[in-house]
Parts: sequence; structure tokens; C-alpha cells
Amino acid sequence: MAVEGFLSDSEEQAVVEAITAAELKTSGEIRLHVENRCKGDAIERVKKVFSELGMYNTKDRNAVLIYIALLDHKLVVWGDEGIHTQVGQHFWDSEVAAILNAFKNKRFKEGLVDLILHIGEKLSSLFPHQKDDIDELDNSISKNDN
Ligand code: CA
Ligand code: CA
Repeated sequence: MAVEGFLSDSEEQAVVEAITAAELKTSGEIRLHVENRCKGDAIERVKKVFSELGMYNTKDRNAVLIYIALLDHKLVVWGDEGIHTQVGQHFWDSEVAAILNAFKNKRFKEGLVDLILHIGEKLSSLFPHQKDDIDELDNSISKNDN
């Protein structure tokens, strides 16, 4: 399955709403990037996308990117150093396992929404929402039809 046809408009809307809801409780930021191909190393690619989306530019270095290359079946959840140093690799591994399980059952929107809300809960415990928080990164889904 390619980017085109992955999520319906209403499913995309549900994902964006989940990001918006998650960010109401934290200063952290969550983004989803979906593309077709990732031929090389997925970690190298996710770092590049993270940078291209300006995701290192948060005050507390607490942005999280959900990266999916649909046709090459790669999925990475990448947190900036502010969150990564606090949650460790185990957190990401268990979250990835959960979403892959949902994807296996073709529950794409549900898997993404659950993942986003879980990350949001974790972010809110480590980086509670502050009065002066701003939306540092757009909540829209980033797509690349490569
Ligand atoms: Ca924010
Ligand atoms: Ca945001």
C-alpha cells in the first residue's frame, strides 16, 4: 500500500486530532511522516526527515516523529534527546511493537491514534503543559509520494 490510499480523509483527520489532543497536555511535539520508499537505513532516513521538518528546533528538545515508509515496510518512532534520554530505547521498542501489531490487523488509524496518545501521555508526565506553551511544530501529516 502506498501513501495514496493509506488513510482516508476522515482517518487523517482523526490522527491530526489525536496529535492536537496529546499536545494539549504537554509542551512536547508529535509529528507523523508517511512516505512510500526508504531504500537505505531507516534510522539515517528518519534523522534526515526530522531535520528537514525542523523538529530539532524545540525549546526542550522534546519532539517525537513517527516515520513510516509504506512500500518498504519500515517504521521508526524517533524522539529528540530531551525525551529520548529520559525514556530510553525500551519505550520506543514497546510502542513500535504495539503499532506493528495493529498494522498487521489492518488497523492503521487505530494503531496510529493509540501510539500518538501513548506518546502524549509519556510526554505529559515528563514535560507537562505550560501556560506559555506554543505549538512549535505543525500537527498536519507530512507526506512524501517518493
Ligand atoms: Ca508545544
Ligand atoms: Ca504540534
